[in-house]
Amino acid sequence: MLRGSCLCGGVRYEVVGPLAGALNCHCSMCRKAHGAAFRSRAGVRAKDFRWTQGEELVTWYETSPGTHRGFCRVCGAKLLSRFDFEAKWYGLPQGELDDDPGVRPGMHVFVAYKAPWFEISDNLPQHLEWPPQ
Ligand SMILES: [Zn+2]
Ligand SMILES: [Zn+2]
Repeated sequence: MLRGSCLCGGVRYEVVGPLAGALNCHCSMCRKAHGAAFRSRAGVRAKDFRWTQGEELVTWYETSPGTHRGFCRVCGAKLLSRFDFEAKWYGLPQGELDDDPGVRPGMHVFVAYKAPWFEISDNLPQHLEWPPQ
């Protein structure tokens, strides 16, 4: 079991299944949402995720049609993304995890929109947008 929480500790969650598809996203929405060079995120099955505290503090912002990013309304920490077009999976920002998920980011995506002040210095594959299917 994995646990995560927001910066103020008001919101807590548990994940009871494996994470999948961990990656670093350099798109401008992720950069702005997280105030960082990129967002590290993984996929989690909706059935494996549950809020354990403070769900009422989670506020949703629709960053693009059908994609809703949930954050703590007290501290602003980014907690979860959900998708109108794919209800079985959530997007989980790894920065809010309190436990080691085991998985590591396997690629960089949306590198075409990368911050000019940040250099990618690892050897992971880089994709201009999504990787080819
Ligand atoms: Zn909070
Ligand atoms: Zn992104």
